[in-house]
Amino acid sequence: MSVPSYFSPVAKILIESGYINVKQMQRVFAQFPVTGESLAQGGLSLVEVLESITGQPLPEHLRHHLWRNLSYSSSSFAEELIQSGFTRDQIQQALAATRRSGRPLSEMIESITGHPFPDDLLRQSQQQWFFEIQVLYGIKTLDPEKFDSTTFSQTQELIETLIPIDICRRYRLLPVKKTKTKPPSVVIAMVNPENLDAEDDLNWILRPRGMTLQRMLIAQENYQQIIGKYLDEKLARQKQIEIEKAVDVKQDLKNISSIDALPNVPKEAEEINLKGADDAPVINLVNKILAKALQEGVSDIHIEPQENDLRVRFRKDGVLHQAFDLLPKRMAPVVSARLKIMAELDMTERRLPQNGKIRRMYRGYRVDFRVSTLPSRFGETIVLRILDYGHTQISLDNLITNQETLNIVKEMAHRPFGLILVAGPTGCGKSTTLYSILREQNEVGVKICTVEDPIEYTLPGITQVQVLREKTRDFASILQALLLQDPDIIVVGETRDKETAKTAIEASLRGYLVLTVLHANDTAGAIARLSEMGAESYLTACALLGVICQRLLRRICVNCRIPYHPSVRELTRFGWSTSGEGEVTLYKANALQPEEIQKARITGTLCPRCNGIGYKGRVAAYEVMCTGEHLQTLISEGASAEQIKEAAVVHEGMKTLLFYSLELVREGYTTLAEVERVVYTDSGLELELKAKRQSTLTHSSSPATDVKNLSTNQLLRLQQLEKQFEELTHEFQLLKQELGNGLGEESRTPPAD
Ligand SMILES: [Zn+2]
Repeated sequence: MSVPSYFSPVAKILIESGYINVKQMQRVFAQFPVTGESLAQGGLSLVEVLESITGQPLPEHLRHHLWRNLSYSSSSFAEELIQSGFTRDQIQQALAATRRSGRPLSEMIESITGHPFPDDLLRQSQQQWFFEIQVLYGIKTLDPEKFDSTTFSQTQELIETLIPIDICRRYRLLPVKKTKTKPPSVVIAMVNPENLDAEDDLNWILRPRGMTLQRMLIAQENYQQIIGKYLDEKLARQKQIEIEKAVDVKQDLKNISSIDALPNVPKEAEEINLKGADDAPVINLVNKILAKALQEGVSDIHIEPQENDLRVRFRKDGVLHQAFDLLPKRMAPVVSARLKIMAELDMTERRLPQNGKIRRMYRGYRVDFRVSTLPSRFGETIVLRILDYGHTQISLDNLITNQETLNIVKEMAHRPFGLILVAGPTGCGKSTTLYSILREQNEVGVKICTVEDPIEYTLPGITQVQVLREKTRDFASILQALLLQDPDIIVVGETRDKETAKTAIEASLRGYLVLTVLHANDTAGAIARLSEMGAESYLTACALLGVICQRLLRRICVNCRIPYHPSVRELTRFGWSTSGEGEVTLYKANALQPEEIQKARITGTLCPRCNGIGYKGRVAAYEVMCTGEHLQTLISEGASAEQIKEAAVVHEGMKTLLFYSLELVREGYTTLAEVERVVYTDSGLELELKAKRQSTLTHSSSPATDVKNLSTNQLLRLQQLEKQFEELTHEFQLLKQELGNGLGEESRTPPAD
């Protein structure tokens, strides 16, 4: 029997040496089906196959010849596996299963032993397989690790110019490179290099050009990966062309009158520009959106495709406004593509949410936009949160308008050790307060460490550590490590599990000042949250200096605010008694509707300070709980949030959020509407009322001790409160009767008098 021409030189040598005959060699080939689909089937080494088929050990000189130019170890794969801790029995079993099922050896070993197949061995097995294919068939296998971007661009070019993508996909092949030999040949990686149709079609293309075909093997998975990447990039390029087409139509943008009508973007905003950016309208549009947002001092930019148009809204002072007239729907994909390029996101990925960051200079300051994309029904919604470093520079004095509250917070912040909780819902300005407290303390003599997720602002002079998802760098373990760094103050970005809570409390008991953020609605709720997490009540009671809770209310525009006298009914609704005070003057915001703003702009009556919004800037309302002895006892006894809040109001004179907000209204900082929007909830009011009732009861039972220390003003206030409370209780009871006593236990409580 003559040696078939497709046998590799090595195969021929083996036959000529008399070790194996042609028939046996063909069986060896059958065990090594040369197609990229079965590459992963690796496991049996060539030597093992040869020996099992001939029934004879491979002589040393042939073995040597076989592996001559080999960098791989010639020891069998099975030996490597044994060295990794698998037993011979397990491997035998797995090999048999591989032969029976045709499934990869790695899979079989995993299912038999229940242990994962070591990655490096998998890689080695594949390498060995590549080599053996080469030995047997004389063709190389494409090594994905050597397939870099240069190779990829050669492939791209060859697909564009020589081997059409249709052929690539039909036969699962990829052109890899053109050799500089004479005649030149084209190296083509094929999943199945024995496919004769493919060979015909390729030769049909190559021969007329005087080129020859050089086959290479590629594993199915690698083929799919590379062709997928090629198609993705092609899609991205098409998208880019679409964008350019879209922006070529300058007419489109001229029709969007509001963009032209934008107030002239200040010169400084020109810093907001891509390096080498051209003046394409979409780039301009996106830059204008960003610049306008910065100019107006908004916190978030929302870009939202609707069914028929694209809406851009800004969140300013906590409330969303439409920033531009609606844009044509066709702008949605180009704007989203542009923002993704700026944020270095995957432009072609439109089915999964993505996060990124855009960093630009604005008026000489660094501004970061945190970009998040979300596929929604009518297209991708993109939200940009503006991280303004100015927020880290506000002093406590500017933040807290109420002197008494300011003093309490400052006193707390200067304590040498203990735990301070900062609570509030998302976006209530917690971090601003936290940074202001740190600013108060950030001196050369004080070491401040923070553990955050994510680090949004860089604070000079402070050691900031980023939390990672891995176990070794979560909040709790970093916190442990920070304790060895000899800090004075530790800030825990957020306490959300037992370990972190426990470590934070321990640290504060061991002599560090620990500040941490908790998601809770009010001060007492934050304490309850700690105990829900599993913190020991008595330790919390010992460690806790206090809780700061806050909300942000929009500051009324002093330029256009409208004074008015609120009705008694309106005031009573907020638990506010006017008796003994005469008529109260409060302010309403002069908030205009979008069409009114347009009109006012035309007639020149638009307020230049707030542009018709009625508000400008924000003011924080605080509820600061200082844990005195009485509260400590309650906390260590595990009292309910309600009991703790009542006691704080009665014994520590805590101003509740509602009370503080109403003071802000009275002082003309904000409006009742804002209090209603941000602070007021029915359950909140009920708690307030209960606390006040309790306070009245306490005072009436032991007036001598309590009233003695009160100033005349406070006494007056107390009387006011009592009166107000009576009115409210009455109204409250009436309301409850109306609701048919359906309010649960509360409704069975007898009236206070
Ligand atoms: Zn105004």
